[in-house]
Amino acid sequence: MVTLDFLEKLNNEYDKYFESVLTQKRFTHSYVKQLINDSKIQNNFSVKLLGRSIENREIYSIEFGVGESTVLLWSQMHGDEPTATMALFDIFNFLLADDEFNEIRNQIKKNLKLIFVPMLNPDGAERITRQNAVGIDLNRDAKRLQSPESKILLNLVEEYQPVFGFNLHDQDFRWSVGNTNQLAAISLLAPVYDYEKSIDSSRLNAIKLVAQLRRSFEKYLPNKIARYKDDYEPRSFGDLIAGKNISTILIESGRDINDYNKFFYRKINFMMLLFSFTEIINNSYSEINITEYFEIPTNGNFMVDLILRNVTYETQSEKALIDIAINREEVYKENSRIPFFKSYIMDIGDLSVFYGIEEFDCTGFEFDLGLISDEELKSVSNLKESDLKKYHEKGILFLRTNQQTELNDLRMPINLITNQNDSALEFNLNKPTNFVLKKNNEIKKIVLNGWLCDPDDLSKVKNGLVF
Ligand SMILES: [Zn+2]
Repeated sequence: MVTLDFLEKLNNEYDKYFESVLTQKRFTHSYVKQLINDSKIQNNFSVKLLGRSIENREIYSIEFGVGESTVLLWSQMHGDEPTATMALFDIFNFLLADDEFNEIRNQIKKNLKLIFVPMLNPDGAERITRQNAVGIDLNRDAKRLQSPESKILLNLVEEYQPVFGFNLHDQDFRWSVGNTNQLAAISLLAPVYDYEKSIDSSRLNAIKLVAQLRRSFEKYLPNKIARYKDDYEPRSFGDLIAGKNISTILIESGRDINDYNKFFYRKINFMMLLFSFTEIINNSYSEINITEYFEIPTNGNFMVDLILRNVTYETQSEKALIDIAINREEVYKENSRIPFFKSYIMDIGDLSVFYGIEEFDCTGFEFDLGLISDEELKSVSNLKESDLKKYHEKGILFLRTNQQTELNDLRMPINLITNQNDSALEFNLNKPTNFVLKKNNEIKKIVLNGWLCDPDDLSKVKNGLVF
């Protein structure tokens, strides 16, 4: 009998199955291709070339098992959503191993036919974009089918008529669980297939399995599981497939605050999918009451990276008290797979209805723009982090240089101004966030590219900006 013990064992033994070729989340199709063409996968799975992306990259399916019930799983239909793809390769390692889980492996093999499509949108993965090579969001192309990638998925669905379909995505990590200040680690959904949000027998099974997943994973993600919004979107694959008598489950992975490579939720995906397979075999989810599904809090949109509350902000005539909400986005330069960060002001004013992942009460602190250094920096490449303290102490957040500098060269807590671009100092909505906070004219805090720091320690700033 499969029980929660299985999950606990998976939790303990996961490291054995971690696919070590995938060590950072911005891997390209070449990694996927290399892994799939390795003899390990070729000799033990049935691998099919389903077709090619617009830019001619191969899209494969990988089959395991000889059972009657087909389960179809596809990942990374959005190119910049890689968590589940990594987990699928961990699952392949699990399925191939020879160890204490052999009984479960054999059950899966005997009862299920698993069909995996890792990385449905390889061109998007190459560019680190949601859309494919010509800018089409595949998840709005399920009806019109104008992309080869979309056709591949729908052909597969129609050919195999799976009983379960797993639609694997990453969500904006700032979604919250309901209206709490808790980030949603994983959001689940049994997608609707009409505007009435009807429940036929296959959607009922999806709803029950989602409820079972939530119940079983609360232990690993306490109060961190949400229900994804269920507005009917006829152009999306999840909703379209749910309308074909296929129990469809959406898994949306978030991101743990500093876990940029999403290794923790990769592991959760691994556990959740393997657990789902055993649930489908044993049908043990069917006893669950569907009210448990509707009790899962839906995703809320209240979170920002940083909120500074009650900042004293002096306008021409008077002093105002404002809150400042700041987000930092991951940005990639061409040919770079390592992110740098670009901050912007998300909102200003009374932000009492929002939560910050990090918050700071600035009562008594006065806002001031940072300063630009008078001297000109001769060489950017010779700049050392230890040289920057003398600037920070004076509130200098910007250095001038005549050198053409790429943003991705500057992984240091300082900004550069080239071409006399003094707009860098602007404080406004959607603008980068660099300023100081003073008390009695003394600099108490520095905000550099969206990170709040003490003036003598800016080590948490991953990079400044080039203006
Ligand atoms: Zn997505």
